[in-house]
Amino acid sequence: MSERENTAEMKQHSFSAEVGQLLDLVVHSLYSDREIFLRELVANAADAMDKRRFEALTNAALTLPEAPSIHIVADKDAKTITLSDDGLGMSPDELTQNLGTIARSGTKAFGEKLSNTKPEERPSLIGQFGVGFYSAFMVADKVDVVSRRAGEDVAARWVSEGKGSYSLGAAERAQPGTDITLHIKEDAEEFLDPWRLRGIIRKWADHISWPVILHEKDDEGKEKEETINEGTALWLRPKSEITSEQYTEFYRHVARAFDEPYATLHWRAEGTVEFASLLFLPGARPMDFMEQSSRESRIHLHVRRMFITDEANLVPNWLRFVQGVVDTEDLPLNVSREMLQATPVLARIRKAVTRRVVSEIKKRAQEGGESFTSFWNNFGLVIKEGLWEDSEHRQEIAEFARFHSTNGDELITLDEYISRMKPEQETVYYLVGDNLSALKASAQLEGFRSRGIEVLLLTDAVDSFWPDRLHSYKDKTFRSVVQAHGDLEKFAPETEEQGEPANVEKLTPVLKEALGDAVKDVRSTVRLTGSAVVITAEGGPDLAMQRLMRRSGQDMPALPPVLEINPRHPLIRALAERVEKGESVDEHARILLDLARVQEGEALPDPSGFARTLASLLAGAAA
Ligand code: ADP
Ligand code: MG
Repeated sequence: MSERENTAEMKQHSFSAEVGQLLDLVVHSLYSDREIFLRELVANAADAMDKRRFEALTNAALTLPEAPSIHIVADKDAKTITLSDDGLGMSPDELTQNLGTIARSGTKAFGEKLSNTKPEERPSLIGQFGVGFYSAFMVADKVDVVSRRAGEDVAARWVSEGKGSYSLGAAERAQPGTDITLHIKEDAEEFLDPWRLRGIIRKWADHISWPVILHEKDDEGKEKEETINEGTALWLRPKSEITSEQYTEFYRHVARAFDEPYATLHWRAEGTVEFASLLFLPGARPMDFMEQSSRESRIHLHVRRMFITDEANLVPNWLRFVQGVVDTEDLPLNVSREMLQATPVLARIRKAVTRRVVSEIKKRAQEGGESFTSFWNNFGLVIKEGLWEDSEHRQEIAEFARFHSTNGDELITLDEYISRMKPEQETVYYLVGDNLSALKASAQLEGFRSRGIEVLLLTDAVDSFWPDRLHSYKDKTFRSVVQAHGDLEKFAPETEEQGEPANVEKLTPVLKEALGDAVKDVRSTVRLTGSAVVITAEGGPDLAMQRLMRRSGQDMPALPPVLEINPRHPLIRALAERVEKGESVDEHARILLDLARVQEGEALPDPSGFARTLASLLAGAAA
C-alpha cells in the first residue's frame, strides 16, 4: 500500500489540550541534548517486549517470535529513522490513548517546571516525567507509527506532525509489534549518521536486555546489521570489573534519572534465598516524586536475567525511592502474577533486600555529613511514613531520622535531643506546623524556650501521625507541646519572668461564660512569655492534625480548643481590672479567642465579625 492511499483513509483527531501544550514545549524549548529521543524510543520498545513476554506466560497466542529484537534503520536519502520492535504493539484505541492523551498527573507539573527551568536543563525533564514518546518531536517534524497488537490480525497507523492533531487509519503489518518512523528535521540530520546512532545507543541503551540491531548500508549500498548493545546484566558481573560511570549509567537507565546516585548497593545474597542485586539510593528527588499516585516500590524483579515485573514490592513503601534490580534463580521463568503474590521466595527476598537497604542508610546516617543531610532532605518525609506504618523497622528509623528543633538550624537526631533533655524531663516535646519559620515564631513555644526545653519542629504531613504510633524511643515518650498542659510547672524558668502575674481568678470564668461552646475551657497558663493567649487541644487530635484533616476534606467536627491566658500580659491584666470593676469583657473574649486562632494559623469562623468587633474596640480605645 502506498503512503498516499493510506493517508487518504486516515481520520484526523485532535490531541488532548495537555499533549498540545507539551508538544509545543518539546518542539520549541528543547533544542539541546536532543539525542535522548533515541533512549526514550528504545526504552519504550524494550518495555513493550518485556510486557509481551510477561503476558505470553498466561496467553500462548502472544508468544514472542524467535530472536526478538529491536531494529533501527536510518535512511539518509529519505531522511528517516525507523525503529521496529517485536513488542506487544498497540490497538487503534491504545494508539489514541497512549499517544494522544496524557494520563499522568505529573504532566501538568511538568509544564510548569519546564517553563521555569534553564533551557540547558530542560531535556532531562522529559524522561523524568514519563512523556518519552513525544521527545521524538525534538528531532522529527513528522512521526509515523504503525502498530499491530499481539493477538490481533489488523494493524493501525498513527501519524502526526506534532501540531495539535494526529491522524489514525488502517495499516498492514506482517507480525505484531511496532514501527516508529521519524521524518528527521533539517537541523537534526546528524542523527541519520550510523556512527552517531551507534554512539547514542552505546551510551543510553547498553543495558537493554533485548538486542538492539543497527542497519547500515555500506558504500555499495549493501545492507549490513550490527548488534550494538552489550545487553549484559551489569548486576551479574563482579564489582571489580565495573566502573563508577557504568554504575551511574545503569542507574540512570533503570531509574529514568539524570542525577548521580547517592549510594550504590551491589551484592549477591547466598543462603536461604539466592539473588543478585544492584540497588541505588538516588542523589536527587525525582521531579514528580510527590505527585506520584502510587506509593509502591518500582524495583525491577528479574528471573535469570529476564525482566519479570516492577510491581513485586521488593521493599516497603517508605523505601519506594530505592531504584534498581533484583535478579534471582529461585523462581521459575514462567512465574505468574498469582504466584508472585503467594511465593515464600519473594517474601524472603523482600526481607533480605530491605535489611540491606536499611543497614546502608544506618551506616550513612552514622557517617552523617552534608550528603546524608541532603539525602534526608530529599526522602526523609517518605522515610518517616515508616515510623507510622512499619512496626518492624520503626525503632531503627527513629534511630537515624533527622529533625529540626529549637536548638538551632542543624538537623538533629533523637539521641542528640535526649542527651540535652532536662533531668526532670521524661518526654520528647514536638510541635507540628506548616513551615519552619511559622513554627519557630509560634507562641506555643514561649514557655518551653524560657525554660530551656528543646522542642522538635515538624513540618511534614506525616508528622501529625507518627509520634503517637512510635509511642516511645529509648523509654522516652512523645508529646505535642499543644497538649503539654501542666508539664511546664515542673521546670523552673531560666529567664526572669516579666512583671507580676495578675489575679485572673475572676476573669477566667467570665471569659468562659462569654465564649460558651466555642471553647472547652479557659485557664491561666505559665506557658506564655510574650503572647497574651494561646489555644491548645485537649482530649482529641492535635491542632495541626485537625487542620490537616480539614484540608484533606475529611469530616472534622469542630473540637473546641482550650483558651489559655497569660496573667503577666498587660492586656490580660487590663481585662482582669475591667472584670473587678464590673465592666463587660464579652467582646474582648471573642477577640482573644480569634487572636489565638490567627496566631495558630487557623481560619477564623467569622472573619468579618472579628474585624467589626476589633474596629469597635479600637475606636473605643482611641476615643
Ligand atoms: P511511558 O513509557 O513513560 O509510559 P511514553 O510517552 O514513553 O511514556 O509512552 C507512552 C505509552 O505509549 C507507553 O506507556 C506505551 O503504552 C505506549 N508505547 C510507546 N511506545 C510503544 C511501543 N514501541 N510499543 C508499544 N507501546 C508503546
Ligand atoms: Mg517511555
